[in-house]
Amino acid sequence: MKDCIFCRIVSKEIPNYTVFEDTHGLAFLDIHPRAKGHTVVIPKVHAETVLDFDDELLGDFFRVVKRTQERLDRVLHPDGYTVGWNHGSAGGQLVPHIHVHILPRWENDGGGNIHSIIDNPGAMIPEQIAKMFGDHAV
Ligand code: 5GP
Ligand code: ZN
Repeated sequence: MKDCIFCRIVSKEIPNYTVFEDTHGLAFLDIHPRAKGHTVVIPKVHAETVLDFDDELLGDFFRVVKRTQERLDRVLHPDGYTVGWNHGSAGGQLVPHIHVHILPRWENDGGGNIHSIIDNPGAMIPEQIAKMFGDHAV
C-alpha cells in the first residue's frame, strides 16, 4: 500500500537494518529500540491486523518470526525473549501494517513480562465471562 510506512520499507523506499528476510517477510531493527536488538517482523503483503491477514499466509509469516529469533539467538545470545504484537489503537498499535515485536531479554534487564502490560480485569470474574462464550465449562 503506497501510504504505508512498512510497505515502503518492504519496497526499500525507506532503508532498514535487516535482521532476516525471505520471500514472505522482513525483520528489521526497530528505530526506537526498547531492548538491545528489538526487532520488528512484518509480512511483505499488507494487512492491518492479524484478523485481516490471509490464513494461507500465516504459517509462512510465523516461520519468518522463528527464523528471525534464530538469527537473533546466534548473534546476540539473549537469555530469553518477549514476543508479541500491539493490535488496534487500544492495544497500542501505531503502524497499521501487522508486525510482531521481538524483544530479546536478559536476566535482570529491568523489564517486565506480559503481565506487566495491564492489570485492569474489570468487575466480572472468569466464570461470568465464560458464560458469555456458552456452556462449555468443564
Ligand atoms: P506499534 O506501536 O505500531 O506496535 O510499533 C511500531 C514500531 O515501529 C515502533 O516500535 C516504532 O519504533 C517502529 N517504527 C516506526 N517507523 C519505523 C521506521 O521507519 N523504521 C523502523 N526501523 N522502525 C519504525
Ligand atoms: Zn503496509
